[in-house]
Amino acid sequence: MSKTSIPTTMHNCATCRRWTGTAIPNAFCSWVEIDVHETGKCMGGTYHMCSMYPMQSCSKWEARW
Ligand code: SF4
Repeated sequence: MSKTSIPTTMHNCATCRRWTGTAIPNAFCSWVEIDVHETGKCMGGTYHMCSMYPMQSCSKWEARW
C-alpha cells in the first residue's frame, strides 16, 4: 500500500471518469487520494477493459470531477 494525493487537474487514470479504481476526492474535489499500486479497469478508453495503475494515462482521458 502506498497512498498519495494528486490534483484532479492531472490527466491520468486516477482522475479520469473511465477509470474504475479507488480515488477518494477531498471536500472541494480538487485533490484525490489514491494508492499508486492499486489498479482499476479502463472502461471505454484507449485501454478498454485493461487494468490500469492510477498514474497511467492516455489521449482519451476525460475529467471526472
Ligand atoms: S487509459 Fe485513458 S481513458 Fe482509460 S482510464 Fe486511463 S486515462 Fe482514462
